[in-house]
Amino acid sequence: MVKARGYAVLTPKTDLVPFEFDRRALRPHDVEITITHTGICHSDIHQGREEWGQAIFPMVPGHEIVGRVKDVGEKASKFAPGQLVGVGVFIDSCRECENCKAGLQQYCAQGMTGTYNTIERDGSTVAYGGYSNLIVVDENYVVSVPETLEVAGVAPLMCAGITLYSPLRHWEAGPGKKVGIIGLGGLGHMGVKFAHAMGAHLTVFSHSERKKSDALAMGADDFVANPSDDYFKKNGSSFDLILNTVSVDVDLEKYLSLLRLNGTLVLIGLPGKPYQVPAGVLLGKRRRLAGSMIGGVPELQEMLNFCGSNQIVSDIELIQPDYINKAWERTVARDVKYRFVIDASSF
Ligand code: NAP
Ligand code: ZN
Ligand code: ZN
Repeated sequence: MVKARGYAVLTPKTDLVPFEFDRRALRPHDVEITITHTGICHSDIHQGREEWGQAIFPMVPGHEIVGRVKDVGEKASKFAPGQLVGVGVFIDSCRECENCKAGLQQYCAQGMTGTYNTIERDGSTVAYGGYSNLIVVDENYVVSVPETLEVAGVAPLMCAGITLYSPLRHWEAGPGKKVGIIGLGGLGHMGVKFAHAMGAHLTVFSHSERKKSDALAMGADDFVANPSDDYFKKNGSSFDLILNTVSVDVDLEKYLSLLRLNGTLVLIGLPGKPYQVPAGVLLGKRRRLAGSMIGGVPELQEMLNFCGSNQIVSDIELIQPDYINKAWERTVARDVKYRFVIDASSF
């Protein structure tokens, strides 16, 4: 066993507190990573507060992890001590189903193994996440981080980044495509940077007028705060792709009406309640309502390489561990530019 320190949620109603625990000893294909930075994703809050149903406590959240390899198992060959690496939202999958074989481990037929709030595939190890000083992960679920990137801003790429990169690639955002992103939070702001770098025409829909100058500076072509009925009427049937990153429910019917023939609205935010959508708004223009979840290991690596080539990182506010509870509060209050990242060297 390897002794680790971090912060944990002990019950869904209480603040995170310092927590000491054991990581598993290195298996042949494992790497031990000294975590340098961990991002705070809104999903950490949803799970820590049990907003998505039953959760496992104590919970050490965190699935936006970057750090340096400290040690490797006897058969691990992909990484060497000292190398800068990242770990995202999952740390294992069945490795045998069609989706795993296609590098789409996030859609594993048996379910991916999350980085925290789950039991690992050995049936006994509790998965503890990145709000911690170190982690032990199978090398097949670790990716290499370009050394040229500012490392604290890399951590959020491991969830917020890939979650926007993947649908933008899948639905072919690029020159000549009109793309909308709803919500300029941790996920949304990464979408703005990627869509801009890919050459799409990008509109940000936000509930916060004050985010306008930031959105434009990140590469948005247009910014619309709280769009009016008149806006929806005037801009109907004009978008190819809209990505909804909002963590509470939004009026999907209105945003669907903005899509042109065969356009797609992708759900990315995961509010606790189900959506209701009238069929008419979909079938009238053969519109699609879709979903997308993070990205697989090969796409994670592709995204990091893309970030390396385009010098893309997240806009962050670096915090110390004793500020995590305040950071959660501020995230829920939409008071974050645009991701809190924990200095993991202080755990
Ligand atoms: P975040 O940083 O809190 O951003 C969410 C944004 O939604 C806010 O910045 C805000 O943008 C808008 N928003 C929040 N509360 C609102 C309210 N009460 N009314 C209206 N708008 C509100 O969260 P995040 O980390 O980006 O995560 C966003 C969602 O995606 C969460 O539900 C998270 O669980 C989910 N998620 C999904 C995946 C996936 O694979 N699909 C991966 C990671 C996270 P504006 O102020 O600009 O409106
Ligand atoms: Zn996340
Ligand atoms: Zn699988």
